[in-house]
Amino acid sequence: MSSPREILAAQDYVEGVLSGDRSLLGRAITLIESNAPQHQERAQEVLAALLPAAGKSVRLGISGVPGSGKSTLVETLGHKLTNDGHRLAVMAVDPSSSRSKGSILGDKTRMENLARDERAFIRPSPSGGTLGGVARKTRETMVVFEAAGYDVLIVETVGVGQSEISVRGMVDFFLLVLIAGAGDELQGIKRGIIEIADAILINKADGENRRAAEEARASYERAIQFLSPSTAGWLTPVKSCSALHGEGIEEIWQMVEAFTAQARESGVFDERRKRQSLEWLHGMVEERLRNAFYHDEKVRSMLDELEQEVLNDRMPVTRAAWKLLEAWHMNSKELG
Ligand code: GDP
Repeated sequence: MSSPREILAAQDYVEGVLSGDRSLLGRAITLIESNAPQHQERAQEVLAALLPAAGKSVRLGISGVPGSGKSTLVETLGHKLTNDGHRLAVMAVDPSSSRSKGSILGDKTRMENLARDERAFIRPSPSGGTLGGVARKTRETMVVFEAAGYDVLIVETVGVGQSEISVRGMVDFFLLVLIAGAGDELQGIKRGIIEIADAILINKADGENRRAAEEARASYERAIQFLSPSTAGWLTPVKSCSALHGEGIEEIWQMVEAFTAQARESGVFDERRKRQSLEWLHGMVEERLRNAFYHDEKVRSMLDELEQEVLNDRMPVTRAAWKLLEAWHMNSKELG
């Protein structure tokens, strides 16, 4: 678990971040990642002060199974972006990660060159905790990067399922990286994941694999026509590339730019961001409520028994739920 060495005044973090001080930027993120209540409070002060300077970036989500080439892609695309004058921040959402075991971005050998790039900042996934907790920290970290002037944010996630949904909820454009020949089951790709993508990229389209990649690209392109698009008015492109050889990378960025131009023009871009903020707000309230409920002593003392009552058909589910909720309510009242 990370904890800031010594906690500074909010103003120090704010000035450091706004002036582009990398060390203070890193410490502000560490503050955000800390679970200590006094750190969280200070972090909220910092975030409130940075908020007016945030929001002016393109937020890109990248997902795909391990080995599909995400970090190679981020490295290649990242260099192109920084060469073009962008400032790039790379983050990850990986709830299974722990610093000691090496999280998806914690492994120092990944993105080695990009890590040395002055115009890039790579931040590994916050370690441990629930997906909700990791996602909150990543979202707040995005605010800090934006306030510091990073104009392209990449959030990488791994695996298939909830973490993708979570990252989809924090980015403007969601890119799914696939490889040919792995088979859909092997890649764990579910229709639902395809449907949240704004683009599908068949990576490793090089050497002997070029043809298979092209075939996969064509078949996904056919399949996608029968699915609802992730973004209204945007037909999800299916492209192939070679992250290793830097082929097709230029086109990826052109696609993102075309998307943002179109989505800004139509209003979809702003609408999505607003919706994401509200979903984040309500999601956080729901998670806190759920935690408070299930950690409540009275609820815990009754839960096992009520579960048994339900399992043995001795009590209707609704009545059991009410009993638990009543117990919680009374308990919170008693506490004042
Ligand atoms: P990640 O786990 O999704 O981040 O995948 P990596 O970026 O670590 O790549 C996994 C392996 O695939 C590494 O050995 C890469 O060198 C290789 N790789 C990545 N992209 C390409 C590509 O475009 N072509 C080929 N041939 N290999 C690639």
